[in-house]
Amino acid sequence: MFTFTTIAQYHSDLLNGITTCVEAVQHYLDNIGKKSSLNAFIEIYHEEALQRASFLDAERLKGKPLSPLHGVVVALKDVICYQQHTITAGSHMLHNFSSLYSATAVERLLQAGAIIIGRNNCDEFAMGSTNENSFYGPVKNAADVTKVPGGSSGGSAVAVQANMCMVSLGSDTGGSVRQPADWCGVVGVKPSYGRISRHGLIAYASSFDQIGIFSINIPDAAKVLEVIAGEDDYDSTVSSETVPAYSTLLQQSNGQQLPLKKFAYFKEALEHPGLDTEIAKTFHHYIEQLRKQGHKVESIDFPLLKYVVPTYYVLTTAEASSNLSRYDGVKFGYRASLNNQDDLTALYKKSRSEGFGKEVKRRILLGTFVLSSGYYDAYFSKAQQVRRLLVDQNDRIFEEYAAILSPTVPATAFAIGEQRNNPVEMYLADIYTVYANLVGIPGASLPLFKHSNGMPFGMQVMVPQFKETALFEIANFLMQLK
Ligand code: GLN
Repeated sequence: MFTFTTIAQYHSDLLNGITTCVEAVQHYLDNIGKKSSLNAFIEIYHEEALQRASFLDAERLKGKPLSPLHGVVVALKDVICYQQHTITAGSHMLHNFSSLYSATAVERLLQAGAIIIGRNNCDEFAMGSTNENSFYGPVKNAADVTKVPGGSSGGSAVAVQANMCMVSLGSDTGGSVRQPADWCGVVGVKPSYGRISRHGLIAYASSFDQIGIFSINIPDAAKVLEVIAGEDDYDSTVSSETVPAYSTLLQQSNGQQLPLKKFAYFKEALEHPGLDTEIAKTFHHYIEQLRKQGHKVESIDFPLLKYVVPTYYVLTTAEASSNLSRYDGVKFGYRASLNNQDDLTALYKKSRSEGFGKEVKRRILLGTFVLSSGYYDAYFSKAQQVRRLLVDQNDRIFEEYAAILSPTVPATAFAIGEQRNNPVEMYLADIYTVYANLVGIPGASLPLFKHSNGMPFGMQVMVPQFKETALFEIANFLMQLK
C-alpha cells in the first residue's frame, strides 16, 4: 500500500521501484472519494491527474532525472488560477468561470513536475475563519466532523490533514493558512509579503495577500517554496532577492543543535482574556523546555495588540471593496436576469446582490464606508498610521530577537454553526495571525499539541521579512523538540 512521509522519501521510493506516480495519484483519488463528505474539494481532476502521472512514470523509466517536484500531488485553493480550469473563489459570483491563464505559482509547480489533483473549497473570496462562507457548503474538520476546519483555506488544510494530497496551496491575507493549519493539525507556512508572485491569485486585499503552503512536515514546505517563490514579470511587488535553496540549507542543518537563540513573545497576547487557559499553559510549558535547552525566551510589551484586528479589518475591507468592484455582472461570471425596464445600474445592483454572499457584502459595505470622504481620515488614514507603527515596532523587535513565538489561534476549532451569527467573535480568532500580514513578515503554524478536548492546536513562529531560511530551520527544530 502507498504511504507518504516526505517528498524526499517518495522520490527515493520512485527511483527504487517501490512505487509509481500512478499508484500515488490513485491512492489520493481513492481517499478523496472515501472522504467526500468532508467537502474539502469542489472539483477533482481524475483523468488528467492519472494521465500526467503515467507520463511522469514513463519519463522516469526513460532515465530522465527527477525534477524537484516530480510526481508530487498538489491541491489548489479555489482562488489560485489554473489555465482552462474552473475557478470560483468559493462564490456564486464566479460560477463556472474558466481561468484564462495559470498563476505563476502554478506554472512553476507544473514546470517542476507536480501533479494538480483538484480544487479546494474555501470561504468566499477568502473571507472567513471557518470555511462556512463558501457557496459550496462548509468543510468539515477530519479530526472531528462536527467542527469547522478553520478558514479561509479550510479545504486545502483538510486535504492535507485527511491524506488527500501530499501538499496544498492556500492563501493567507490575515491567517488563512496558519489558522486552519492550527485547527487541523498540519504545517501551514505563510511566506513574506513579496516572496511569491500574486499573479493569478484572486485578490482579496492586495497589500496583505500571499500564497501559502500546507504540508505534513517542514522540509516539504521548504521544497515547495523554493520552487514557487521569486521574481516575476507579472507582479512588481515580488522581491528580486534571490530565493535561497531552502531545502538544501535545511538538510545541512538537520540533526544539528539549533544555535542558541533569543525568542520573544507578546505579554498582552498571552494575557488576553480570549485565550484558552489550556493553550496558554501548554505554551508556557513549551517555552520552559526551550529555556532548559539554553535558549532565551522573553516576554515583551505589545500595547498595540488591541488595535491589530480593527486595523486589519479596516484596511483589508477597504482594499476588498476596490478589488471586488470588477465583479459587476458584465466582465466576469454571474449576471442577473433583467426586466425590460432595467438599466445598466440595475444590472450591476442585481448581479452583485445575487452573486455575492452575506460576509462578502458586509465587507464591501464596510470597506466602502471607511474609504468614503467623510470617514476616510477617521478610519482608513488612522489604520494606515497604526500599520506604520506596527512596522516600526517590528523592526525594533527583530534587532534583538530571532523570532516571535505565540499560539496561532486563541482557541481550538469551533463547532460548525457556532459563530455563524457572530462575525465579531469570529474576527477575534485572527488576533495572533493578522500581525504578520500587517507587517509583511513570514510565519508558520506548527502542529505540536493536542487539547484535552481532543482537537489539535499549534504554535506560531514569526521571523523577519525574507528570512524564510531561519523560519524553516527554527520550525524544524521546534517540531523535533515536542
Ligand atoms: N480570517 C481572516 C479574514 O476573514 C483571514 C482571511 C485570509 O487570510 N484570507 O479576513
